[in-house]
Amino acid sequence: MRPRRAATGLLAAAALTAALTACGTQPPTAARPGGDAAHGHRPGGAREPAARGTGLPPVVDRVPTRDRVVFLTYDDGAERDPRFVDLVRARRLPVTMFLTDSVAGPAYGHFARLRAVGASLQNHTLDHPFLRGLPYAGQRAEICGQQDKLKSRFGVRPHLFRPPYGAYDTATLRAAADCGITAVVLWRASVTGTGELAYARGAPRLRPGDIVAVDPDEPTGLSLLDRTRRLLGEIEEQGLRVGRLEDHVRIPGRGPRTDARPSGAGRGPRTDARPSGAGPSGARERGRPGTEPSGNGAVRA
Ligand SMILES: [Zn+2]
Repeated sequence: MRPRRAATGLLAAAALTAALTACGTQPPTAARPGGDAAHGHRPGGAREPAARGTGLPPVVDRVPTRDRVVFLTYDDGAERDPRFVDLVRARRLPVTMFLTDSVAGPAYGHFARLRAVGASLQNHTLDHPFLRGLPYAGQRAEICGQQDKLKSRFGVRPHLFRPPYGAYDTATLRAAADCGITAVVLWRASVTGTGELAYARGAPRLRPGDIVAVDPDEPTGLSLLDRTRRLLGEIEEQGLRVGRLEDHVRIPGRGPRTDARPSGAGRGPRTDARPSGAGPSGARERGRPGTEPSGNGAVRA
């Protein structure tokens, strides 16, 4: 799929009024550590100059690929359902967890278990601040600090970063680059607390290369586990499978990996695991993260 490059200015303006959130709906001013709905993603509104040629990491909300894969991502680290670990193991799901230290830190053991069964652990800052507009030094401390935490705990430095609320600016990209981040990851689709798919932009259906953010649990919504099962049913229904995001994001020095086979490739969601009642999703257009950069919103093949 070709990255969409046109009309980003228009879309940026639209983002200011859009209401998409990838993990909750609370305004940034209400954000607080703890992993509840306040750990939402907020339309950022700002577009940053193209990263291409600047040494800044690209910002992606989908990945051009010929593989019929989508990417499942989870934020913060508040949910620690052991049955989710079982699901990831049983279905061999190469999911990506973007972890905030102040939320996930007390339960890094849970995430070690997830990592052991195939999950990728990546950076979502130390304390989940609204980064856009903060001084470079503060942003760098949030990003590099979490790089250090995750390296210390799991032995591997992340190279993917998702800014809280999807909000970032040039300082974020500079700080991310200086912390060793090679791609900033947003999302084109999100799974709401009720299990429905919402799309930030484009066609309201899953397409190969889509990055899907599964929102954190809401008090009255479905559990992360149930919403993931429902999503897997939708993925299967569309003839897609879950790919490993890291395998499809170009890592400097390693060359393009766009067509790398995902872990678990060839093993689509098992039909016997599809939840009953998971018919066509309630997909609808709900807005978009306001932070996609102009000119380089997707990793190049
Ligand atoms: Zn978050």
